[in-house]
Amino acid sequence: MTTAPNIEGIMLFEQPFARVPYENYRKVFRASQKNIEKELGALQTAAADLARKAQSGAVSQEDATKAVDGMLKRAENLKRKLGELQKNAGTPTLGVMRERLELLASVESMQSASSPEFDRWADTRLDRWLTDWALRSGKERTARKLAQARGIERLVDLELFSEIRRVEEALKRHSCTEALAWCSENKTALRKAKNPLEFELRLQEFIELARDRKLMDAIVYQKKHLVQWQETHSAQIQHASGLLAYAPGTTCSPYKRLYDLGRWETLVRSFRLAIYNLSTLPTEPLLHLAMYAGLASLKLPACYDHETKNVDCPVCDPDLGLLATEVPFSHHFNSTIVCRLTGKIMNENNSPLAFPKNGHVYSKEALEEIAAINDGMVTCPRTKERCHYTELRKVFIS
Ligand SMILES: [Zn+2]
Repeated sequence: MTTAPNIEGIMLFEQPFARVPYENYRKVFRASQKNIEKELGALQTAAADLARKAQSGAVSQEDATKAVDGMLKRAENLKRKLGELQKNAGTPTLGVMRERLELLASVESMQSASSPEFDRWADTRLDRWLTDWALRSGKERTARKLAQARGIERLVDLELFSEIRRVEEALKRHSCTEALAWCSENKTALRKAKNPLEFELRLQEFIELARDRKLMDAIVYQKKHLVQWQETHSAQIQHASGLLAYAPGTTCSPYKRLYDLGRWETLVRSFRLAIYNLSTLPTEPLLHLAMYAGLASLKLPACYDHETKNVDCPVCDPDLGLLATEVPFSHHFNSTIVCRLTGKIMNENNSPLAFPKNGHVYSKEALEEIAAINDGMVTCPRTKERCHYTELRKVFIS
Protein backbone atom coordinates (compact mmCIF):
# COMPACT_ATOMS: atom_id res chain seq x y z
CA MET A 1 0.00 0.00 0.00
CA THR A 2 1.25 3.49 -0.78
CA THR A 3 0.46 6.54 1.30
CA ALA A 4 0.18 9.90 -0.38
CA PRO A 5 2.30 12.72 1.09
CA ASN A 6 0.60 14.59 3.94
CA ILE A 7 -0.08 17.77 1.99
CA GLU A 8 -1.70 19.66 4.85
CA GLY A 9 1.23 18.96 7.15
CA ILE A 10 3.72 19.91 4.46
CA MET A 11 2.00 23.20 3.67
CA LEU A 12 2.00 24.25 7.34
CA PHE A 13 5.68 25.06 6.95
CA GLU A 14 5.50 26.71 3.56
CA GLN A 15 3.71 30.00 4.14
CA PRO A 16 6.89 32.12 4.30
CA PHE A 17 8.23 30.29 1.23
CA ALA A 18 5.46 31.86 -0.84
CA ARG A 19 5.16 35.03 1.20
CA VAL A 20 8.70 36.44 0.93
CA PRO A 21 8.69 36.89 -2.88
CA TYR A 22 5.12 38.14 -2.68
CA GLU A 23 6.22 40.87 -0.25
CA ASN A 24 9.09 41.74 -2.59
CA TYR A 25 6.71 42.05 -5.50
CA ARG A 26 4.40 44.20 -3.44
CA LYS A 27 7.31 46.60 -2.90
CA VAL A 28 7.97 46.78 -6.65
CA PHE A 29 4.29 47.44 -7.22
CA ARG A 30 4.24 50.19 -4.58
CA ALA A 31 7.30 51.84 -6.09
CA SER A 32 5.67 51.78 -9.55
CA GLN A 33 2.47 53.18 -8.15
CA LYS A 34 4.30 56.04 -6.43
CA ASN A 35 6.08 56.96 -9.66
CA ILE A 36 2.84 56.90 -11.62
CA GLU A 37 1.02 59.03 -9.06
CA LYS A 38 3.81 61.58 -8.96
CA GLU A 39 4.36 61.92 -12.70
CA LEU A 40 0.72 61.75 -13.77
CA GLY A 41 -0.17 64.30 -11.11
CA ALA A 42 2.44 66.68 -12.50
CA LEU A 43 1.21 66.01 -16.05
CA GLN A 44 -2.38 66.80 -15.12
CA THR A 45 -1.37 70.05 -13.43
CA ALA A 46 0.70 71.08 -16.45
CA ALA A 47 -2.12 70.22 -18.86
CA ALA A 48 -4.73 72.10 -16.83
CA ASP A 49 -2.39 75.07 -16.56
CA LEU A 50 -1.84 75.14 -20.32
CA ALA A 51 -5.54 74.80 -21.08
CA ARG A 52 -6.39 77.71 -18.78
CA LYS A 53 -3.75 79.92 -20.33
CA ALA A 54 -4.85 78.97 -23.84
CA GLN A 55 -8.44 79.83 -23.03
CA SER A 56 -7.54 83.32 -21.91
CA GLY A 57 -5.25 83.67 -24.93
CA ALA A 58 -2.26 84.33 -22.68
CA VAL A 59 0.05 81.78 -24.27
CA SER A 60 2.15 81.99 -27.41
CA GLN A 61 2.46 79.08 -29.80
CA GLU A 62 6.10 78.74 -28.85
CA ASP A 63 5.34 78.50 -25.12
CA ALA A 64 2.57 76.00 -25.77
CA THR A 65 4.93 73.78 -27.77
CA LYS A 66 7.49 74.03 -25.01
CA ALA A 67 4.91 73.02 -22.39
CA VAL A 68 3.73 70.05 -24.46
CA ASP A 69 7.37 68.98 -25.00
CA GLY A 70 7.91 69.14 -21.27
CA MET A 71 4.87 66.94 -20.68
CA LEU A 72 6.04 64.43 -23.27
CA LYS A 73 9.44 64.26 -21.63
CA ARG A 74 7.80 63.54 -18.28
CA ALA A 75 5.71 60.77 -19.77
CA GLU A 76 8.75 59.23 -21.45
CA ASN A 77 10.70 59.47 -18.24
CA LEU A 78 7.93 57.68 -16.40
CA LYS A 79 7.83 54.95 -19.03
CA ARG A 80 11.59 54.44 -18.74
CA LYS A 81 11.47 54.29 -14.93
CA LEU A 82 8.62 51.80 -14.91
CA GLY A 83 10.37 49.70 -17.53
CA GLU A 84 13.56 49.58 -15.46
CA LEU A 85 11.67 48.69 -12.29
CA GLN A 86 9.88 45.87 -14.05
CA LYS A 87 13.04 44.56 -15.71
CA ASN A 88 15.37 44.73 -12.67
CA ALA A 89 12.98 43.88 -9.87
CA GLY A 90 9.49 42.98 -11.09
CA THR A 91 10.21 40.23 -13.63
CA PRO A 92 12.89 38.46 -11.54
CA THR A 93 10.61 38.49 -8.48
CA LEU A 94 7.71 37.10 -10.50
CA GLY A 95 10.05 34.36 -11.72
CA VAL A 96 10.97 33.44 -8.14
CA MET A 97 7.31 33.43 -7.14
CA ARG A 98 6.36 31.20 -10.06
CA GLU A 99 9.18 28.74 -9.38
CA ARG A 100 8.26 28.47 -5.69
CA LEU A 101 4.56 28.01 -6.33
CA GLU A 102 5.30 25.36 -8.96
CA LEU A 103 7.47 23.49 -6.46
CA LEU A 104 4.65 23.58 -3.91
CA ALA A 105 2.12 22.49 -6.52
CA SER A 106 4.29 19.59 -7.67
CA VAL A 107 4.03 17.80 -4.33
CA GLU A 108 0.24 17.72 -4.57
CA SER A 109 0.32 15.47 -7.59
CA MET A 110 2.65 12.93 -6.01
CA GLN A 111 1.01 9.57 -5.38
CA SER A 112 3.29 8.19 -2.74
CA ALA A 113 5.35 9.54 0.14
CA SER A 114 7.85 6.76 -0.49
CA SER A 115 8.37 7.50 -4.17
CA PRO A 116 11.78 8.65 -5.43
CA GLU A 117 10.23 11.91 -6.68
CA PHE A 118 8.94 12.72 -3.20
CA ASP A 119 12.36 11.86 -1.77
CA ARG A 120 13.90 14.36 -4.16
CA TRP A 121 11.32 16.95 -3.18
CA ALA A 122 12.02 16.36 0.51
CA ASP A 123 15.78 16.55 -0.10
CA THR A 124 15.34 19.97 -1.68
CA ARG A 125 13.22 20.99 1.28
CA LEU A 126 15.91 19.87 3.71
CA ASP A 127 18.48 21.88 1.73
CA ARG A 128 16.18 24.90 1.91
CA TRP A 129 15.81 24.48 5.68
CA LEU A 130 19.54 24.03 6.19
CA THR A 131 20.16 27.22 4.22
CA ASP A 132 17.52 29.02 6.29
CA TRP A 133 19.22 27.80 9.46
CA ALA A 134 22.63 28.98 8.26
CA LEU A 135 21.24 32.38 7.21
CA ARG A 136 19.59 32.91 10.58
CA SER A 137 22.72 31.93 12.46
CA GLY A 138 24.77 34.51 10.56
CA LYS A 139 26.58 31.90 8.44
CA GLU A 140 25.82 33.69 5.20
CA ARG A 141 28.77 32.34 3.22
CA THR A 142 27.90 28.76 4.13
CA ALA A 143 24.30 29.43 3.14
CA ARG A 144 25.31 30.86 -0.24
CA LYS A 145 27.65 27.97 -0.96
CA LEU A 146 25.01 25.41 -0.07
CA ALA A 147 22.34 27.16 -2.13
CA GLN A 148 24.70 27.41 -5.10
CA ALA A 149 25.83 23.80 -4.88
CA ARG A 150 22.22 22.60 -4.80
CA GLY A 151 20.96 25.07 -7.38
CA ILE A 152 18.31 26.43 -5.02
CA GLU A 153 19.27 30.11 -4.93
CA ARG A 154 15.78 31.15 -6.02
CA LEU A 155 14.20 28.93 -3.39
CA VAL A 156 15.94 30.50 -0.39
CA ASP A 157 15.84 34.05 0.95
CA LEU A 158 19.45 35.11 0.46
CA GLU A 159 18.54 38.72 -0.35
CA LEU A 160 16.23 39.11 2.61
CA PHE A 161 19.00 38.01 4.93
CA SER A 162 21.65 40.22 3.36
CA GLU A 163 19.26 43.10 3.94
CA ILE A 164 18.90 41.99 7.56
CA ARG A 165 22.68 41.83 7.92
CA ARG A 166 23.16 45.27 6.35
CA VAL A 167 20.64 46.91 8.70
CA GLU A 168 21.85 45.03 11.78
CA GLU A 169 25.49 45.87 11.14
CA ALA A 170 24.51 49.54 10.95
CA LEU A 171 22.64 49.26 14.27
CA LYS A 172 25.70 47.63 15.83
CA ARG A 173 27.70 50.64 14.61
CA HIS A 174 25.06 52.74 16.41
CA SER A 175 23.44 54.10 13.27
CA CYS A 176 19.65 54.10 12.89
CA THR A 177 19.67 55.44 9.32
CA GLU A 178 19.39 52.09 7.52
CA ALA A 179 16.75 50.73 9.87
CA LEU A 180 14.70 53.93 9.53
CA ALA A 181 14.89 53.69 5.73
CA TRP A 182 13.60 50.12 6.01
CA CYS A 183 10.76 51.34 8.24
CA SER A 184 9.76 53.97 5.73
CA GLU A 185 9.73 51.35 2.93
CA ASN A 186 7.41 49.21 5.03
CA LYS A 187 5.47 51.97 6.73
CA THR A 188 1.98 50.70 5.94
CA ALA A 189 2.66 47.12 6.97
CA LEU A 190 4.35 48.20 10.22
CA ARG A 191 1.48 50.51 11.07
CA LYS A 192 -1.03 47.77 10.38
CA ALA A 193 0.89 45.43 12.69
CA LYS A 194 1.09 48.23 15.31
CA ASN A 195 4.85 47.66 15.38
CA PRO A 196 6.64 50.38 17.39
CA LEU A 197 10.09 49.82 15.82
CA GLU A 198 10.18 53.23 14.15
CA PHE A 199 9.39 54.98 17.42
CA GLU A 200 12.11 53.04 19.22
CA LEU A 201 14.64 54.07 16.55
CA ARG A 202 13.59 57.72 16.73
CA LEU A 203 13.83 57.58 20.51
CA GLN A 204 17.36 56.19 20.21
CA GLU A 205 18.43 59.03 17.90
CA PHE A 206 17.05 61.47 20.45
CA ILE A 207 18.96 59.72 23.24
CA GLU A 208 22.18 59.94 21.23
CA LEU A 209 21.73 63.70 20.78
CA ALA A 210 21.22 64.03 24.54
CA ARG A 211 24.29 61.86 25.15
CA ASP A 212 26.36 64.27 23.03
CA ARG A 213 24.71 67.15 24.93
CA LYS A 214 23.46 68.67 21.66
CA LEU A 215 20.45 69.95 23.53
CA MET A 216 19.10 72.36 20.94
CA ASP A 217 19.28 69.67 18.26
CA ALA A 218 17.59 67.25 20.62
CA ILE A 219 14.67 69.64 21.18
CA VAL A 220 14.28 70.20 17.43
CA TYR A 221 14.46 66.44 16.83
CA GLN A 222 11.85 65.76 19.46
CA LYS A 223 9.41 68.19 17.87
CA LYS A 224 10.04 66.83 14.40
CA HIS A 225 10.06 63.07 15.03
CA LEU A 226 8.74 62.17 18.48
CA VAL A 227 5.73 64.42 19.00
CA GLN A 228 3.80 62.62 16.24
CA TRP A 229 3.85 59.50 18.45
CA GLN A 230 2.30 61.42 21.35
CA GLU A 231 -1.00 59.58 21.17
CA THR A 232 0.46 56.12 21.77
CA HIS A 233 3.81 56.82 23.45
CA SER A 234 3.32 59.94 25.57
CA ALA A 235 4.77 58.39 28.74
CA GLN A 236 7.95 57.34 26.97
CA ILE A 237 8.33 60.73 25.30
CA GLN A 238 7.92 62.47 28.66
CA HIS A 239 10.40 60.12 30.26
CA ALA A 240 12.92 60.77 27.47
CA SER A 241 12.52 64.56 27.83
CA GLY A 242 14.20 64.20 31.21
CA LEU A 243 17.46 63.48 29.38
CA LEU A 244 17.69 67.17 28.54
CA ALA A 245 18.29 67.76 32.24
CA TYR A 246 20.20 64.57 33.07
CA ALA A 247 23.63 64.14 31.47
CA PRO A 248 24.96 60.67 30.54
CA GLY A 249 26.92 60.28 33.79
CA THR A 250 23.72 60.44 35.85
CA THR A 251 23.10 57.95 38.63
CA CYS A 252 19.34 58.55 38.53
CA SER A 253 18.21 55.14 37.41
CA PRO A 254 15.27 55.91 35.04
CA TYR A 255 17.60 58.10 32.96
CA LYS A 256 20.65 55.93 33.40
CA ARG A 257 18.58 53.15 31.86
CA LEU A 258 17.82 55.22 28.76
CA TYR A 259 21.52 55.96 28.28
CA ASP A 260 22.35 52.26 28.55
CA LEU A 261 24.17 51.12 25.39
CA GLY A 262 22.40 47.76 25.74
CA ARG A 263 19.41 49.47 24.10
CA TRP A 264 21.19 49.04 20.77
CA GLU A 265 21.14 45.26 21.21
CA THR A 266 17.42 45.46 21.91
CA LEU A 267 16.95 47.43 18.70
CA VAL A 268 18.75 44.71 16.73
CA ARG A 269 16.38 42.11 18.19
CA SER A 270 13.28 44.27 17.59
CA PHE A 271 14.29 44.85 13.99
CA ARG A 272 14.84 41.12 13.41
CA LEU A 273 11.41 40.35 14.88
CA ALA A 274 9.73 43.04 12.78
CA ILE A 275 11.21 41.81 9.50
CA TYR A 276 10.38 38.17 10.32
CA ASN A 277 6.88 39.23 11.19
CA LEU A 278 6.33 41.05 7.90
CA SER A 279 7.54 38.05 5.91
CA THR A 280 5.58 35.60 8.11
CA LEU A 281 8.90 33.91 8.88
CA PRO A 282 8.82 32.09 12.22
CA THR A 283 11.22 33.40 14.85
CA GLU A 284 12.88 30.01 14.99
CA PRO A 285 14.62 28.22 12.12
CA LEU A 286 12.25 26.05 10.05
CA LEU A 287 14.66 23.18 10.58
CA HIS A 288 14.07 23.35 14.35
CA LEU A 289 10.30 23.47 13.93
CA ALA A 290 10.36 20.40 11.73
CA MET A 291 12.60 18.60 14.19
CA TYR A 292 10.35 19.38 17.15
CA ALA A 293 7.71 17.10 15.67
CA GLY A 294 10.13 14.20 15.41
CA LEU A 295 11.65 14.83 18.83
CA ALA A 296 8.24 14.99 20.50
CA SER A 297 7.46 11.48 19.27
CA LEU A 298 10.64 10.13 20.87
CA LYS A 299 11.06 12.16 24.03
CA LEU A 300 10.85 10.22 27.30
CA PRO A 301 11.61 11.32 30.87
CA ALA A 302 14.49 8.81 30.77
CA CYS A 303 16.21 10.90 28.06
CA TYR A 304 17.17 13.47 30.71
CA ASP A 305 18.42 10.93 33.22
CA HIS A 306 22.20 10.54 33.03
CA GLU A 307 21.93 6.92 34.06
CA THR A 308 19.61 5.73 31.33
CA LYS A 309 20.77 7.52 28.17
CA ASN A 310 20.35 5.49 25.00
CA VAL A 311 23.02 5.88 22.31
CA ASP A 312 20.46 5.41 19.55
CA CYS A 313 17.97 8.00 20.83
CA PRO A 314 18.31 11.52 19.32
CA VAL A 315 16.69 13.12 22.39
CA CYS A 316 19.33 11.53 24.65
CA ASP A 317 21.99 13.39 22.64
CA PRO A 318 22.90 16.52 24.64
CA ASP A 319 22.57 18.97 21.70
CA LEU A 320 19.35 17.61 20.27
CA GLY A 321 18.05 17.08 23.80
CA LEU A 322 18.46 20.82 24.36
CA LEU A 323 16.30 21.45 21.30
CA ALA A 324 13.70 19.08 22.72
CA THR A 325 13.44 20.73 26.16
CA GLU A 326 10.28 22.63 25.21
CA VAL A 327 8.51 19.83 23.38
CA PRO A 328 6.07 17.57 25.24
CA PHE A 329 6.90 13.99 26.19
CA SER A 330 5.71 11.31 23.83
CA HIS A 331 2.80 9.23 24.89
CA HIS A 332 3.32 5.49 24.50
CA PHE A 333 0.38 3.14 24.83
CA ASN A 334 2.68 0.16 24.70
CA SER A 335 6.05 0.73 26.22
CA THR A 336 9.07 -0.94 24.75
CA ILE A 337 12.26 -1.61 26.62
CA VAL A 338 15.44 -0.96 24.73
CA CYS A 339 18.74 -2.50 25.69
CA ARG A 340 21.33 0.08 26.66
CA LEU A 341 24.13 -2.03 25.28
CA THR A 342 22.81 -3.10 21.90
CA GLY A 343 20.05 -0.52 21.34
CA LYS A 344 17.74 -3.42 20.43
CA ILE A 345 14.21 -3.85 21.70
CA MET A 346 13.79 -6.43 24.48
CA ASN A 347 10.84 -8.80 24.20
CA GLU A 348 10.05 -12.51 24.59
CA ASN A 349 12.67 -13.38 21.93
CA ASN A 350 15.35 -11.22 23.47
CA SER A 351 14.29 -11.16 27.08
CA PRO A 352 15.55 -8.69 29.66
CA LEU A 353 17.86 -9.99 32.37
CA ALA A 354 18.65 -8.20 35.63
CA PHE A 355 21.79 -8.24 37.75
CA PRO A 356 20.98 -9.83 41.14
CA LYS A 357 22.18 -6.97 43.38
CA ASN A 358 21.77 -3.66 41.53
CA GLY A 359 18.82 -4.74 39.41
CA HIS A 360 20.12 -3.10 36.18
CA VAL A 361 18.56 -4.68 33.12
CA TYR A 362 20.15 -5.61 29.79
CA SER A 363 19.10 -7.83 26.91
CA LYS A 364 19.79 -11.53 26.87
CA GLU A 365 21.64 -11.13 23.56
CA ALA A 366 24.06 -8.58 24.95
CA LEU A 367 24.74 -10.48 28.17
CA GLU A 368 25.18 -13.78 26.36
CA GLU A 369 27.79 -12.15 24.16
CA ILE A 370 29.68 -10.79 27.18
CA ALA A 371 29.47 -14.14 28.98
CA ALA A 372 30.77 -15.98 25.90
CA ILE A 373 34.06 -14.07 25.90
CA ASN A 374 34.45 -13.93 29.71
CA ASP A 375 34.13 -17.60 30.73
CA GLY A 376 30.49 -17.16 31.65
CA MET A 377 31.06 -14.08 33.81
CA VAL A 378 29.19 -10.80 33.17
CA THR A 379 29.91 -7.28 34.45
CA CYS A 380 27.40 -4.42 34.72
CA PRO A 381 28.88 -1.51 32.73
CA ARG A 382 27.34 1.00 35.11
CA THR A 383 28.15 -0.35 38.55
CA LYS A 384 30.81 -2.93 37.67
CA GLU A 385 28.81 -5.55 39.57
CA ARG A 386 30.14 -8.95 38.51
CA CYS A 387 28.39 -12.28 38.55
CA HIS A 388 27.97 -15.50 36.66
CA TYR A 389 25.54 -15.52 33.74
CA THR A 390 23.39 -18.12 35.50
CA GLU A 391 22.91 -15.81 38.47
CA LEU A 392 21.09 -13.21 36.35
CA ARG A 393 17.38 -12.92 37.08
CA LYS A 394 14.84 -13.10 34.32
CA VAL A 395 12.60 -10.04 34.15
CA PHE A 396 9.00 -10.46 33.04
CA ILE A 397 7.31 -7.73 31.10
CA SER A 398 3.66 -7.35 31.97
ZN1 LIG B 1 16.15 9.22 24.79
